[in-house]
Amino acid sequence: APSRLDNAISLAKRRGFVFPCGEIYGGTRSAWDYGPLGVELKENIKRQWWRAMVTSRDDIVGLDSSVILPPQVWEASGHIAAFVDPLVECLSCHKRYREDHLLEEFEEKKGRAPEGGLAEIACAACGSRGQWTEPKMFNGLLRTYLGAASDESGLHYLRPETAQGIFINFENVMRTARQKPPFGIAQVGKSFRNEITPGNFIFRTREFEQMEMEFFVVPGTDEEWHQHWIQTRKDWYTDLGISEDNLRLYEHPQEKLSHYSKGTTDIEYRFGFQGSEWGELEGIANRTDFDLSTHAKHSGKDLSYLDPATNERFVPYVIEPAAGLSRSLMAFLVEAYTEEEVPTAKGGTETRTVLRLDHRLAPVKAAVLPLSKSADLVPTAESLAKELRGAWNIDVDVTQSIGKRYRRQDEVGTPYCITIDFDTLDDQAVTIRDRDTMQQERVALSQVSGYLAQRLIG
Ligand code: ATP
Repeated sequence: APSRLDNAISLAKRRGFVFPCGEIYGGTRSAWDYGPLGVELKENIKRQWWRAMVTSRDDIVGLDSSVILPPQVWEASGHIAAFVDPLVECLSCHKRYREDHLLEEFEEKKGRAPEGGLAEIACAACGSRGQWTEPKMFNGLLRTYLGAASDESGLHYLRPETAQGIFINFENVMRTARQKPPFGIAQVGKSFRNEITPGNFIFRTREFEQMEMEFFVVPGTDEEWHQHWIQTRKDWYTDLGISEDNLRLYEHPQEKLSHYSKGTTDIEYRFGFQGSEWGELEGIANRTDFDLSTHAKHSGKDLSYLDPATNERFVPYVIEPAAGLSRSLMAFLVEAYTEEEVPTAKGGTETRTVLRLDHRLAPVKAAVLPLSKSADLVPTAESLAKELRGAWNIDVDVTQSIGKRYRRQDEVGTPYCITIDFDTLDDQAVTIRDRDTMQQERVALSQVSGYLAQRLIG
């Protein structure tokens, strides 16, 4: 039977959350486009993150830096030298894998590390066991060439993380926003990595969106802040409806830390992938003063902070919660996907599919449904929709039976369906149906907006 993950992915495709990129040309399996519902969901996640991380706080400000930065940035950050993964190729079918992914997957599946290393591991594509090339280091930066000369002098990189745009603006932001440590700079935007094995739907793509925040702290307070941010970020997911049972923390062993990190803890979600069920949603790293120090050294600009209170100068340490927007969208979809048995009008039961998305994330907040296409119901529906659109994304659906229309809205997570029926013309009232309880209430037309405002918070 298809898993919840399979069902959620097929719903996402069928209802236009996500389309394969270049579908009319056969599609690629590694890039995806967000359709009308997907883009709303994505915007809502982004908005919630921005609210939680920036506008609801006085100690974090926003930034939108360039995708293409001066190449010296990547030299200084260590990405040109160290943003590399070990690649191996199957000698039989030539499929390529990241060696670290093969080893991790084996361990997750069998509960032990492969003693014989790769010799124990079979190729997922052709099944041949232990037939691997030696690992070769591969740099994940995406290259592009700027200017008229398409030679090495024009070589630039698309950012593999948004973080470096923040570090190189540290002084600009601190000065103009009149902030001092502890304070943070947040950014949402596209990042690019030349992933060798993109896959698992939108989980791993070469072009993706990140939501990152760099929090600058006084050295010595870094570990406490690290713990604070791990907890705060985990709470963000549960507050938006991800169940505690489907989240876990994974602390990176010291020997596997990135070149800039003193400690990293990932927040993982139980996606239910074949093989290893869990996938990383977000990494929370203690980047120490690595980035500011290295940029100070390479640029010759002083990036330290002089504390006027103590007259002490220091380079702040950085705690970084780095989340994937596309990955969290996938997690919210999988988590919300529910099938349940509900009673039918004829006294039997049927299965309904409902996306139990948090109201704040739901792409469409309410649907206005005139019971019949005929008569005078449609103009009333249109004028109500027009009023509500001042505040929310509203759908008007006039085709097919009312039952089918409810199911269509349930399936995409619309919290409220507002039915205009023949009585509406007499009593100036409508029926509002709640997605989760399926309870209906009669509400005066003039009160609909207030009714929704009370229930659609955030
Ligand atoms: P992975 O181990 O899965 O490759 P990572 O540890 O390299 O990820 P980070 O560098 O910590 O990832 O990036 C922060 C976040 O950005 C990740 O937690 C993830 O949500 C997101 N992310 C990273 N790479 C991709 C990708 N190729 N596609 C989609 N999201 C990504």
